[in-house]
Amino acid sequence: MKKKKRLLIGTLLMSVMCAVPALAQDYELVINSGRVMDPETLFDDIANVGIKDGRIAEISKQPLKGAETIDATGHIVAPGFIDTHFHWQAPLGYAIGLRDGLTSSMDLELACPGTFIASWYEARAGVTQANYGCASSHEQARQMVMDGKMSDEIYERGPMAVMEARKKNGWSLDRATLEQGNEILKIIDKGLQDGAIGVGSTVGYMRDGVTTREMFEVQKVAARYDRLTTAHTRFTPDNDIMENVGAQELLLNAVALGAPAIALHFNNPGWRFTQELISRLQDAGHNVWGEIYPYAAGSTFLNAVYLSPDNWVERMGHRYEDTLQDPITGDFYDLARYNADMKTDPTKLIVLYKMPVEDVPKWLTLKGVTVASDSVVAEPIFGPWDFPLDQLGATHPRTSGTRSLSLRLGRENNIPMMQLMSILSYNAAKHLGDTGLKAMQERGRMQTGMVADIVVFDPERVTDNSNYDNGAVPSTGFKAVIVNGQVTVRDDKLLPVFAGQPIRFEPEAKPRFEPISVAAWNAEFSTGMPDPDVTGAFPAKGGK
Ligand SMILES: [Zn+2]
Repeated sequence: MKKKKRLLIGTLLMSVMCAVPALAQDYELVINSGRVMDPETLFDDIANVGIKDGRIAEISKQPLKGAETIDATGHIVAPGFIDTHFHWQAPLGYAIGLRDGLTSSMDLELACPGTFIASWYEARAGVTQANYGCASSHEQARQMVMDGKMSDEIYERGPMAVMEARKKNGWSLDRATLEQGNEILKIIDKGLQDGAIGVGSTVGYMRDGVTTREMFEVQKVAARYDRLTTAHTRFTPDNDIMENVGAQELLLNAVALGAPAIALHFNNPGWRFTQELISRLQDAGHNVWGEIYPYAAGSTFLNAVYLSPDNWVERMGHRYEDTLQDPITGDFYDLARYNADMKTDPTKLIVLYKMPVEDVPKWLTLKGVTVASDSVVAEPIFGPWDFPLDQLGATHPRTSGTRSLSLRLGRENNIPMMQLMSILSYNAAKHLGDTGLKAMQERGRMQTGMVADIVVFDPERVTDNSNYDNGAVPSTGFKAVIVNGQVTVRDDKLLPVFAGQPIRFEPEAKPRFEPISVAAWNAEFSTGMPDPDVTGAFPAKGGK
């Protein structure tokens, strides 16, 4: 019923647009005769798209003329894909993402050190092929305070600085004192002041280091700017008790603070429950959501705290022989090799089998979620944009194939295309836009006036080409991938076009940082009842 009404409105708009005679000159670029899909209005019809000054200037049944034309007959024309969880924020990462239809590539999890947000965005201006964005990192702020500062050159790698930082573990295991806690929050705050999209936390990698108070205070820093906190939630991955408890921590803090949040990659045991929590909170008007990636196996560093034998083997009952794989050789681990590699190569990337493969298409049918790849890196990590992608080193296939695999699984499992367009693009734009992020209010939609980030692909042919043995093979089936009105991929070939724009908030003149009180911080260390924080708890007179 609702859908019918929307389609009718779409048709009416179309006839209004058609009443305006098309001009002879017209557009810089037109995409003719494709099936145009807009997941916001549910518009879904064969139409022509005119692009001018980086924006969608017209969507019409009338033939359009442009300096450049793409014939999209038999193809889908939809908003460019958006990823809130793409770690490989470097030219080759953007390149392999673009080959998979990814026009907006952000890392809101590992994220960037708060004091390097300004320089991170600066370094990408005018030289980046996809749109880019970063959050202010909880982990990296902790690393600076608990393990000592590394060189600027390392921090300028943004999210990938953790490959160096994770050789130490104070950031993960050590409790902060009040002074350290305030220093951590101040670094996070600096990133938000400089325009970071929100705060990214890897609290799930900080087994005993981060108290519930610290996590709440971290989310509060973001809430002062009305921005989101994302988390690789506590205990992830775990069983269907602890996994959900971790999601509840993030979500309840968000609700208490009235702030947005993303439960990252909740495609783990207990996902049905987390999904119900998120959906009920959305129905109640909270701007919280979850991410999934369409693979049964994950990927992480060998020294992740949750993979230690006491947790992964003894407590959770897994065997390394069944679950932990070296993506380079394809071999599975055993305890002896785990112990040996922990000494020589603790930050080695591994593939981690954790979920039944039958669950994957189910995740793609969920409402209110987004597909996010959690892309990891491949060698050469900092190679040039035009390094031959078929010669990349081995890695988890999600880096190159997340979006095309979603489309292929959609085709094989009869998942409606509009649902896929929502979870691959519009949902992220909608939720991020609702945090006030202008760059996302005008993306993720095929509507006049919106930014022309567009994918044109063959729904019958589009496919991922990477798997666990051959992890970094680019996807195929894209006739065009358009970034800010510029054709950046044509017929599965990446072009030397650098039209990527920053996805960020405007920097602010003043920090909003407020230190935590002694009473609040100490509460978590007392053995008895927490000390009530009486300062300012009661209004002096009257009160509400
Ligand atoms: Zn993660």
